[in-house]
Amino acid sequence: MRSQNRPGDVRAQLPASAPEQQESYAQILEDVERIIVPGLTHWQSPNFFAYFPANISAASVFGELMSAGFGVQGMLWTTSPACTELETHMLDWMREALGLPEHFDSSGEGGGVIQDSASSATLCAMLAARERTTRGVSNAQGLFGGAPLVAYGTAHAHSSLEKAVRICGVGSEYLRLVEVDAQLAMRPDDLNRRICEDRDAGLRPFFVNAVVGTTSTNAIDPLPEVSRVCAEHGLWLHVDAAMSGIAALCPEFRGIHEGLEGADSYTVNAHKWMLTNFDCNLFWVRSRAALTGALGLLPEYLNNRASASGEVIDYRDWQIPLGRRFRALKLWFVLRRFGLQGLQTMVRDHVALARDFSSWVTDHADFEVSAEAPLNLVCFRHVDGDDFNRRLLETLNDAGQIYLTHTKIDGTMILRMSIGAASTTREHVERAWSIIQSTAAAIQAEGT
Ligand code: PLP
Repeated sequence: MRSQNRPGDVRAQLPASAPEQQESYAQILEDVERIIVPGLTHWQSPNFFAYFPANISAASVFGELMSAGFGVQGMLWTTSPACTELETHMLDWMREALGLPEHFDSSGEGGGVIQDSASSATLCAMLAARERTTRGVSNAQGLFGGAPLVAYGTAHAHSSLEKAVRICGVGSEYLRLVEVDAQLAMRPDDLNRRICEDRDAGLRPFFVNAVVGTTSTNAIDPLPEVSRVCAEHGLWLHVDAAMSGIAALCPEFRGIHEGLEGADSYTVNAHKWMLTNFDCNLFWVRSRAALTGALGLLPEYLNNRASASGEVIDYRDWQIPLGRRFRALKLWFVLRRFGLQGLQTMVRDHVALARDFSSWVTDHADFEVSAEAPLNLVCFRHVDGDDFNRRLLETLNDAGQIYLTHTKIDGTMILRMSIGAASTTREHVERAWSIIQSTAAAIQAEGT
């Protein structure tokens, strides 16, 4: 389950230098078994309940293999038209499948792109917002052309938000942490208050990061109200739905995206909860011109007739690196192999299991649910306090039968049960609950 390796175990078994002579696959594979496998944490195990899902499928792996074998660089349309056009098409399919607003469709002024990660998507969104706000001055002159820019999110947003403000040159000092409500979701009134204060102080609010499904507890920021505040002040609204957005494949969960009509950009990871192996982040913008305005460059050595015609998309202008892999292929394989119905069934099953788990916790006198569980993540704790919960978690993970991780809410230690491995069934979740209860009882017995 969680690798039981100690720091340095893998390197201690590797020769100091690369081999001078070629080796056989048999030798290499033997070392994979001996050195690598014990150093793996088994994310695909049905008993993996840690962090967030990163579930995969054979269809995705075939697509990935084929992409690796083609070995194309998709930086320009002309360097492999299939790589670009399949990607544009897959993002339009996914926009429709998730019920996202039409302004993200490539048929209008917006469109989607595959990034390596949600962190990159947030960074690209912020760069586009920065350039829109400064009218390109920050790129052209290396200045923000005026007062400091200010970004907004909550303390529960993913750390990639703070990373983005650092990389964009905004600086952590100008990232405002908006207050949250009892569900740990952003308070739009506090957002509005802070924006007004910053404006009055002569600063330039420019970017709001709202989250659909925070990493710690799956809290959902109220997009309708947040987008109203953004519209009123003319701020870029980016919505990070890295894991939870995939739930919107099911019409009954689409409420999580209510208010998305006001968003300038949106991101979700197919590589978390959609049977598609890492990396495959999906990122949409309302205005592709805003994105390419921030990131587009055309050195002479890349100049070509198709780009010059303006008829094609060159995705290198939608991302930080130049080079790009053919990631749309695996997404295409997954969508065709499972169909939307197959993916919906998986999501529904995981959510139902999380709801069952949450009810078992609620019914147990020694455990409590610590935050609302809208989808596939249950935050819970034993009533005996932080030290007990820490010990419970360590004992569970050291035993290696199941793997859970934790978070802190207001300084309190919380256990997270994240359900989303492709092979997890009700039997695995029941077994996990039984192991959690018996381990807690054993620790309690030791203490008496
Ligand atoms: N945003 C949220 C809400 C997340 O939960 C995560 C991952 O846990 C991320 C962003 C980062 O995702 P990635 O690894 O694709 O950058």
